[in-house]
Amino acid sequence: MKRTLAFLLLGLLSLPVQAQKMNKSKQAIAASVDKHQQALIAISDSIWALAETAFQETGSSKILADYAEKNGFKVERGVAGIPTAFVATYGSGRPVISVLGEFDALPGISQKAQPTKEPLNEGAAGHGCGHNLFGTASLASAIAVKELIEDGKIKGTVKFFGTPAEEKFFGKIWMVREGLWDDVDVNLSWHPAAKTEADVQSTLALVDFKVEFFGQAAHASADPWNGRSASDALELYTTGINYYREHIKPTVRIHYHIQDGGQVVNVVPDYSRIWVRVRDTKRSGMMPVYERVQKMAEGAAIMADVDYKISLISGIYEVLVNRSGGEIMQKNLELLGPISYTEAEEAFAKKIQEATGKPQVGMDSEIRPLEATREHPGGGSTDVGDVSWNVANINLGVTVAPKDTPWHSWAVVACGGMSIGHKGMLYAAKALGMTMADLFENPDLVEKVKAEYRERKGNTVYEPIIPEGPPPINMSDK
Ligand SMILES: [Zn+2]
Repeated sequence: MKRTLAFLLLGLLSLPVQAQKMNKSKQAIAASVDKHQQALIAISDSIWALAETAFQETGSSKILADYAEKNGFKVERGVAGIPTAFVATYGSGRPVISVLGEFDALPGISQKAQPTKEPLNEGAAGHGCGHNLFGTASLASAIAVKELIEDGKIKGTVKFFGTPAEEKFFGKIWMVREGLWDDVDVNLSWHPAAKTEADVQSTLALVDFKVEFFGQAAHASADPWNGRSASDALELYTTGINYYREHIKPTVRIHYHIQDGGQVVNVVPDYSRIWVRVRDTKRSGMMPVYERVQKMAEGAAIMADVDYKISLISGIYEVLVNRSGGEIMQKNLELLGPISYTEAEEAFAKKIQEATGKPQVGMDSEIRPLEATREHPGGGSTDVGDVSWNVANINLGVTVAPKDTPWHSWAVVACGGMSIGHKGMLYAAKALGMTMADLFENPDLVEKVKAEYRERKGNTVYEPIIPEGPPPINMSDK
């Protein structure tokens, strides 16, 4: 007996300092993630190798949904009219805490898990945003929480949302339209990053639309006077946009991708198409720019004497920040401490930095104090924004790539397929799970997070930027 006690004490003393400060639930969360580790790495690596793009993530979605089902979750597949979207639920009653998992890849950036640029499959997609880690870690956190509910340690419901097409089209908007978060108290999300932080910064609102011009074809030399050029209209349109840049606020971004500018040089093109995106740090700032850029299409069409058509694709809100939630997450990051890396991993990181022209400083997973929330954040956009205007939302960023790694690039793909990415994934799973455990165990924290959500949302009525009808699962020109 005494000997057992001595061993127990010794065992406790040998635990890392952080683990000693964790309560039983948090220790159980961490232990669950460790227990599932091998399976989680295999899942992440399979999704990484599949590298399926927006709305085509059939295999990746199935791998995650199957693992949820195997772990006792009730899984509803093909929700919101999206074949690869699903909801996995475990437990009953309140609180209802959910977590988001993305799993789509980016076209054209296939890469081996090595620190020099070389595609795994030439021309194929790659996980340049680490969504193979994203979906897997979030599911792992939900499973860890489920095990606590199963053991009778906490009461309530945990949900994992399999959310497709974040990189293009923004699948979550249709899931929100379906009311999938209506009964959720607090939602959590994370994103792979080059640093680790409880994320209390917003993102940019955006709108995507297509402009098509319809002219009259003719021989470019023999009878050009019979032609009305759709590509003239397109050039005039982009010229208008580029002049307009002088007169927009610094927070605004306008991008375009010319999808069709005509086919051959000896034909006056009768058709052209461009994908346009307008962003601003607030939806309210984005809308007038969106209106103006639409008007320019009409102007360009008049000048080239062609017809035009504008089709809305979709748009997303900026993220509604929740600092109360961020503070809970921050404490858990401080409990977990920074991720530690082996010499080989640091060497891999430095080679990535060398190859991408960045200072060779290696990994950064230091836990810094919670940042002040900036009024105008830089950076990108995410359809987590739309979720965050419909339910209180807590965000996390976790290191899965070296400091300053160019995002959406081969370098992120490389790290996401090896131990640097895996470590970030397992860490994220623990941080998310521990934060969920806090919410399950402390109803007052749930209330505090919800109260801040209500206050920040104020009287704003959420109006999704979304065309009528089903999601563009098979849009022909993507
Ligand atoms: Zn992403």
